[in-house]
Amino acid sequence: KKLGVALVGLGSYSTYQLAPSLQDTDYCYLSAIVTGTKEKEQLWKEKYNLAKDCIYNYGNFDTIIDNPKVDIVYVVLPNSMHADFCIRAAKAGKHVICEKPMAMNVAECDAIIKACEDNNVKLSVGYRMQSDPYTKEVKKYVMEKTFGDVNFVSSDAAYISQGNPNQWRLNKALSGGGALMNMGVYSIQTSIYGTGENPISVTAQEFSTRPGYFKDTDETITAQFEFPNGAVGHMMTSHNINGNRLKVHGDKGWFELDPAHSYGPISGRTSAGTEIKFPLKMQMALQMDDFAKHIQLGTTNMAPGEMGKRDMIIVEAIYKSIAEGGNKQLLDLGTMGIVS
Ligand code: NAD
Repeated sequence: KKLGVALVGLGSYSTYQLAPSLQDTDYCYLSAIVTGTKEKEQLWKEKYNLAKDCIYNYGNFDTIIDNPKVDIVYVVLPNSMHADFCIRAAKAGKHVICEKPMAMNVAECDAIIKACEDNNVKLSVGYRMQSDPYTKEVKKYVMEKTFGDVNFVSSDAAYISQGNPNQWRLNKALSGGGALMNMGVYSIQTSIYGTGENPISVTAQEFSTRPGYFKDTDETITAQFEFPNGAVGHMMTSHNINGNRLKVHGDKGWFELDPAHSYGPISGRTSAGTEIKFPLKMQMALQMDDFAKHIQLGTTNMAPGEMGKRDMIIVEAIYKSIAEGGNKQLLDLGTMGIVS
């Protein structure tokens, strides 16, 4: 059976990535929408041939409990609204996909995870890269030691933010933080799948050059990780620098993805002079199909809630290191959230 997906929040990611990707999935389809904008109701209903009892707003959202055409609720709202809507979706008995970053803080991640457990529904984070063949190749190189033991990983996830300085991403009450919350989670993710391990410590620094624009949120952050096997990592995230790269050094060679986490195509090369190349397929279609298969067939959940929570633990440790003037923060994550 194809599972019905309700998109909650019809902003740019839902409009330009998720809804088109849902036309390209094998195990799920767009069955419903939840929007706060009246004009979008008719537009989306016609464009995607939605039934009239499948159009919701934020007020009547909870009545989705009675709709058998909705199996999965996909929350694509500003970060401050993730926990509320994910918990309400779980209480309505629907499986949940929560966009990244999972929530505003670790406590909210815990509340989402608990609500999904209590209501016996599955939970996944919108980490589309976890379903991408390039990520699987990275994990394979690391596991098979194709370039030897990894001893250094370098990751950048950054872009130059311009335009409306009042956009929600630059408003801490709605975003929870700036570049680190928005893009830094990609650097954290690539650092972890680039080494195959969770970091055991982090040290971080913050840089500000446009305080008039970034009034409320972090502009540029660098951080250094130590990993249990002795590898070290360096990450950079920014709303004022361009960067989109993962480079992994082993004791026998290196490989690199640049871009490493765009919607596609990803591009990669190795110290052996080879290109890393896979056919282009929309990552979000792969991601949603992976989750639908996990629900129906019990296959691996590629981005479980504990992965989102783990990344938020690291985000909080980075902010704490910065607040303490760069003090090293120890992390005790074990294998939390590692999916091979
Ligand atoms: P957006 O600003 O384009 O859309 C936000 C949506 O939320 C809009 O429909 C808006 O009307 C609605 N909304 C409701 N209350 C709001 C409020 N108080 N302020 C602002 N908007 C409000 O954002 P987006 O780019 O679609 O991002 C939505 C979520 O998706 C975020 O969590 C973001 O991090 C995530 N995202 C993930 C990826 C990815 O690659 N996985 C890419 C883009 C965005």
